[in-house]
Amino acid sequence: MVNLLQFDRAGLGDFCEQLGEKRFRATQLFRWIHQRGERDPAAMTDLAKSLRDKLAGSAVVEALPVASEQVAADGTIKWLFDVGGGDAIETVFIPEADRGTLCISSQAGCAVNCRFCSTGHQGFSRNLTTAEIVAQLWHAEFTLRRRLGLAAGERAITNVVMMGMGEPLQNYAALLPALRTMLDDHGYGLSRRRVTVSTSGVVPMIDRLRDDCPVALAVSLHAPDDALRDELVPLNRKYPIAELLAACRGYLARAPRDFITLEYCMLDGVNDAPEQARTLLALVRGDGSADSGLACKINLIPFNPFPASGLGRSPRERVAAFAAVLQEGGIVTTVRKTRGDDIAAACGQLAGEVQDRTRLAERGTRAAPVRVERRVAGPVSRRTGVAAPAPVRSSS
Ligand code: SAH
Ligand code: SF4
Repeated sequence: MVNLLQFDRAGLGDFCEQLGEKRFRATQLFRWIHQRGERDPAAMTDLAKSLRDKLAGSAVVEALPVASEQVAADGTIKWLFDVGGGDAIETVFIPEADRGTLCISSQAGCAVNCRFCSTGHQGFSRNLTTAEIVAQLWHAEFTLRRRLGLAAGERAITNVVMMGMGEPLQNYAALLPALRTMLDDHGYGLSRRRVTVSTSGVVPMIDRLRDDCPVALAVSLHAPDDALRDELVPLNRKYPIAELLAACRGYLARAPRDFITLEYCMLDGVNDAPEQARTLLALVRGDGSADSGLACKINLIPFNPFPASGLGRSPRERVAAFAAVLQEGGIVTTVRKTRGDDIAAACGQLAGEVQDRTRLAERGTRAAPVRVERRVAGPVSRRTGVAAPAPVRSSS
């Protein structure tokens, strides 16, 4: 059986052709699935009977099984979805007065292994499929529509951020059809400014995204210089800051009225000194360099601690002082509100169940060693004391 959630509209057209049907029928089918949340081909009454019959025997709309749902005091909802093989991923809904934002995962775990990220600490299991990425949105949209009693045509999810578990640009092939489905007027109809891809800086894929589907781009910078960023975001050793900012400028060349959001996680005594704010300011303004400045906004994220990180959250006054340097230098700077931290749904706290398999290894379960070896150095190395990552330099 083919899962119809794996196709963007063009892909669904190909599938209809394979079934011996006209391509254009895909549009109707796509609307049933993504605008009305219908799973059963038999209920898609205005589809040609021949197509309905063929679908019944060959295709399904397969949602992800919900392992748990938690609701935070502030209304944030976190779903844990079982994606099989011992992996579970998390999706977070963040309600606000004028919008509903869904934070979607792109991988089970993450291979980038950032020092301050709990997903990174778990190691990497696998890429999600397009169907698994889209299924997170499908489930949230139609569950919430029913629950909130929204009228036909009203949307629960108005914004999507690819800021859940995983590095979306290390799963580009699956990401692209998912983004197209979100933007499609016959799908979720989100404008490209309401869909944000957040990346730790996979430079070649930033260029690809610009050409294929230039949605809003957020870049996780976290440090004003390569020496510190090498330690916090190991991918920096491959794509250093100058290359990353050049890719950002290239991204905007396609969309001149846009800006890049630079995310900067505030770590106590690590990257939060006023001097580092000044270095960051000079960097984004292009001071003293042949390059032009970058049209950007800076989003400071208070670090959300998790066990084993060994890092602390910058005090509020230090965040404010850091923000003031940037603002006085003419850069729009905001401090991200922490949402859902009582259910570990805040930025960087998403951990799914990738960790559980590591625990299996500790218990000596037979299947576990193979799985653990597939992971990058993460909790395993910390527990065994082998190859623990280098300590983060503290700024004085
Ligand atoms: N892999 C992508 C998207 C997922 S992370 C990326 O790194 O951009 C989404 C955002 O949460 C990133 O900016 C990331 O740096 C930030 N983040 C990760 N761990 C965090 C933590 N413990 N506290 C606060 N923000 C964190
Ligand atoms: Fe991966 Fe992003 Fe976490 Fe880094 S911050 S480990 S890239 S999910």
